[in-house]
Amino acid sequence: MVECLLCTKQFSNGLSFQDIFSFRPLTAPSICSHCQQTFNSLVEKPTCSSCGRLLNEQLVNPCNDCQKWENDSFTNRALYEYNSALKDYMARYKFMGDYRLRFVFQSELSQAIKQEGKIVIAIPVNQTTLRTRGFNQVTGWFANIKYYDVLTPITTTKTVAQSQKNRRERLELKQPFELIARAVPVIKDRDVLIVDDVYTTGRTIRHAADLIKVAGARSVTGLTLAR
Ligand SMILES: [Zn+2]
Ligand SMILES: [Zn+2]
Repeated sequence: MVECLLCTKQFSNGLSFQDIFSFRPLTAPSICSHCQQTFNSLVEKPTCSSCGRLLNEQLVNPCNDCQKWENDSFTNRALYEYNSALKDYMARYKFMGDYRLRFVFQSELSQAIKQEGKIVIAIPVNQTTLRTRGFNQVTGWFANIKYYDVLTPITTTKTVAQSQKNRRERLELKQPFELIARAVPVIKDRDVLIVDDVYTTGRTIRHAADLIKVAGARSVTGLTLAR
């Protein structure tokens, strides 16, 4: 029996004594089945081909939000719907900084990244956030994932956190990144996967994709934990 990382109840993660002492990476669940069921997986569900959101009968594909992006071939895939359970999780992991919670989605996200077989770039966090939180919430989910730090946040004075802004303010966000000088040899003519935590308006990940395309990537797609 192990303790669920989210509700602290004891549960069986199905691991045998042999599994624990084997050299294979452990992919056993770190949360109980009750907590797991509060998340809505989007895998094999109808989703928007451009942003990855769950489509119901009313939503066209690409969804209305995505039709507003002009001349844009960017596509994003998300693993989970950004429902209240996932919002609670992000609040505890990212905003309260509980780094143990990276294990909740680490093996699943890492698997999804490996399946893509692309050059991996994580959306960076700025230095102030890194100092207060102590970690990048995206790379916290990486288990044996080789990734490249080619994007760096442009330092501006007194920026308001993305999460504090409304939709219109987020869409107006100016390019928040620049490419590091040695980025081009890494991404030129390669298929690049940008990984982020939550696709909200898409502004941030699309800004990152624009820079990577300009640097000569053959293709750029996105993968986010949630949409
Ligand atoms: Zn639980
Ligand atoms: Zn969409």
